[in-house]
Amino acid sequence: MTSETGAPAPTRVELLGLPAARLAAALAPVVDRPFRVRQVYDALYRRGETEFDAMTDLSRELRRVLAERCSVTLPAVADRRQAADGTTKLLLRLADGATIEAVDIPESRRRTLCISSQAGCGLACAFCVTGFWGAGRNLTAGEIAGQVILLRRLLDLPPTLNLVFMGMGEPLLNLEAVRDALEVLGETISHRRITISTAGVVPGIEALGRWPRRPNLAVSLHAPDDERRERIMPINGSYPLADLFAALRRYPLEPRRRITFEYLLIEGFNDAPRDADALARRLAGLPAKVNLIPLNPDPVLPDWMRRPVEARVDAFRARVERHGLTATVRRQRGHDVAAACGQLRAFGRDPRAPRSRMRGVGR
Ligand code: SAH
Repeated sequence: MTSETGAPAPTRVELLGLPAARLAAALAPVVDRPFRVRQVYDALYRRGETEFDAMTDLSRELRRVLAERCSVTLPAVADRRQAADGTTKLLLRLADGATIEAVDIPESRRRTLCISSQAGCGLACAFCVTGFWGAGRNLTAGEIAGQVILLRRLLDLPPTLNLVFMGMGEPLLNLEAVRDALEVLGETISHRRITISTAGVVPGIEALGRWPRRPNLAVSLHAPDDERRERIMPINGSYPLADLFAALRRYPLEPRRRITFEYLLIEGFNDAPRDADALARRLAGLPAKVNLIPLNPDPVLPDWMRRPVEARVDAFRARVERHGLTATVRRQRGHDVAAACGQLRAFGRDPRAPRSRMRGVGR
């Protein structure tokens, strides 16, 4: 588009997701006084206000100029499903048409939002439906923070929220955007209530360790040895367990914090008592807790990947605890609307479509 003079028409500057310094730079041509920047910052990130017109502490004229020159874009809701257990899954459409999912998980004493860091995922873990659909792209900080702002607006959420990066994507492969998003979300959610879950991206763990305010770290381990881990998580070829655990041992945990190890239980693959012993040996000496996740089934997963029966899960947990570790079992939430872990696929897609990414995976 060009204006009458032939010069390109100014495109609007997207403000959502910009941390304080970059927001100030973006607003410099528009506002004259620093405290005005602060007012916009507070409106966006403390109050979750995304309409300039509603920022009534700003002058009418400034609101008009902002609306003309800047934009604040939230994801659009493409679909919304509520499970019998109260879990709500939202399919969100981003400005370029990419779709992601965000899940609201009400529990008796806390409320957790599970959000996405990428649209799709390139890691191709054999058990995960998101990876089945292939790579995709990094989300921007605004698209990450926007999920929380949007869910707060749509759902009746309490002020105190827990946030987990366990939706679509690998957060440590999108570090800059995640960092900016956490900075602005930090206005309303303490970093101590935020958990980043990683498939084990070692350079990302090292980078995270240098952040001044670090969220909780969860690591998707899923197998106690390289041989089995690589069969279900191709990323283990790039970052084998020795490298992963070396990075974790160096990781500067905040006081009284532990690293969460997520361990998927797959029947007959990694759920034997000796696997529990091997897992405990791996974690020896680390401030660790274990979160056991009985596999959530899905039609696109290989046939041999089955969820162990409850007694088997309980026995595994007891066995891990015998080594002095804390182990919890992640209850399956929202499975009737495919909102459970590993089921985030941007719903509406045909689950029987051929799976090109899964060659060579099996036991
Ligand atoms: N990429 C990050 C964030 C995604 S987290 C990571 O790998 O940690 C999603 C969590 O759900 C991970 O622990 C993942 O391993 C787990 N998950 C994936 N597929 C699953 C399935 N079919 N059943 C249960 N949990 C699954």
